[in-house]
Amino acid sequence: MNTHAKPSKLIKGATGDWEIVIGLEIHAQVTSKSKLFSGASTEFGGEPNSHVSLIDASMPGMLPVINEECVAQAIRTGVGLKAQINLHSTFDRKNYFYPDLPQGYQISQYKSPIVGEGEVIVDVSPTEQIVVGIERLHLEQDAGKSLHDQSATESFVDLNRSGVALMEIVSRPDMRSADEARAYVTKLRTILRYLGTCDGNMDEGSLRADVNVSVRRPGEGLGTRCEIKNVNSIRFIGQAIDVEARRQIGIIEDGGKIDQETRLFDPGKGETRSMRSKEEAHDYRYFPDPDLLPLEFTQAYVDELASHLPELPDEKKARFMRDFGLAGYDAGVLVMERDSADYYEAVAKGRDAKIAANWVINELFGRLNKEGLDIKASPVSADQLGGIVELIGENVISGKIAKDLFEIVWSEGGDPRQLVEERGMKQVTDTGAIEAAVDAIIAANPDKVAQAQAKPTMLGWFVGQVMKETGGKANPQAVNDVLKQKLGI
Ligand code: ADP
Ligand code: MG
Repeated sequence: MNTHAKPSKLIKGATGDWEIVIGLEIHAQVTSKSKLFSGASTEFGGEPNSHVSLIDASMPGMLPVINEECVAQAIRTGVGLKAQINLHSTFDRKNYFYPDLPQGYQISQYKSPIVGEGEVIVDVSPTEQIVVGIERLHLEQDAGKSLHDQSATESFVDLNRSGVALMEIVSRPDMRSADEARAYVTKLRTILRYLGTCDGNMDEGSLRADVNVSVRRPGEGLGTRCEIKNVNSIRFIGQAIDVEARRQIGIIEDGGKIDQETRLFDPGKGETRSMRSKEEAHDYRYFPDPDLLPLEFTQAYVDELASHLPELPDEKKARFMRDFGLAGYDAGVLVMERDSADYYEAVAKGRDAKIAANWVINELFGRLNKEGLDIKASPVSADQLGGIVELIGENVISGKIAKDLFEIVWSEGGDPRQLVEERGMKQVTDTGAIEAAVDAIIAANPDKVAQAQAKPTMLGWFVGQVMKETGGKANPQAVNDVLKQKLGI
């Protein structure tokens, strides 16, 4: 695995180069109607304390009952992470005091998690792929939420989230830059959304990251890490890593040493702040939860769940590369969301798949991004974009006219082929018309003709003039051919 970073990833300190080492603990809320050990609803945004069973409120004598769907979701996720599924696992109590945790302990998995080692393949850039090791995935309960802003003198607690199932997905310290960490979280989120095991909605807190950062001199062993708690956007994860690495380098270069601690990222100030010194496992007094039996299931049960999983992003990407001849990175971008992949397939089917990819990624995604729209809300349907791609492939319109046509379809709708007919947007391939335009331009610019004959790169200027003259509709290849012939170059 990528144990040491490429020189380009190193950052410069006052005394030389440093390498950043990152490991992430992702808390992913399990998609399920009810909580991990109770029948209360998991729905987001209800009135405070409206989704709370006696179990979630930790009333004396209540007993947790495992929700089988949450277990199935964890297994599906493990399969999607190409990970070891443990047929035997146990629940433990992790003891700590928190005002929004009425039990006084969190039910989690410690020594025997439901999922063991796996891996995630991550495209960091068009030319770089890394593999991030997964150490484990375990099931645990979420806590409630303290509300300090409702009253000047009192704090309240909302237990709606208390007891909701979380998957904690722990990576190996395999990332070496903020870019790599961002790409990893993006990929993990994609996999979870494909699997339907977590909605990945970071705004609602369905996906949160604890970001572990350390620095070292290239070639050295691991440095002391700090853990930045509960970072809730991919952008903030990147920012937190960069400022934390800088902070650590500053301390070490000034002759200090890093204390292992838990920190918070403040996006407003662009800094991390100490929250507490690092707790150790023994501080939590973990012990097996006596209210819950070990989880036991058969390989046949795992196989059955695995057999119903959809085509996952890596497989889809490989198929797009194979069947449509796409470059890996482009295919990776297209499969990032299932809806985009479906859209692309509908555009590409029976058409020039590379032109289709180019148009979906650059024109469509670019425009959707600019307008803040989801692909499902795209004003241009796959059918319509397919029509545009078809017209380009048939040489009926040039790429430049296609952009105008795309704008028209985007804002007015309509059938692309019909629009091209009605509005006279067809490409001029008729050499007679092109020749006439070329002749006129040559006659009007004798000085430029002489220049072009001396320096053939001047041809571009003539091509531009002909395009202007023909309203961008002349076929660029035909224009080039006619120009070369007439100018004798
Ligand atoms: P804890 O539960 O105490 O936070 P874990 O052993 O579960 O500790 O590790 C937490 C995370 O820290 C993992 O994602 C791991 O990859 C990461 N990690 C461990 N050592 C380092 C290090 N030296 N630098 C950066 N990340 C690290
Ligand atoms: Mg941790």
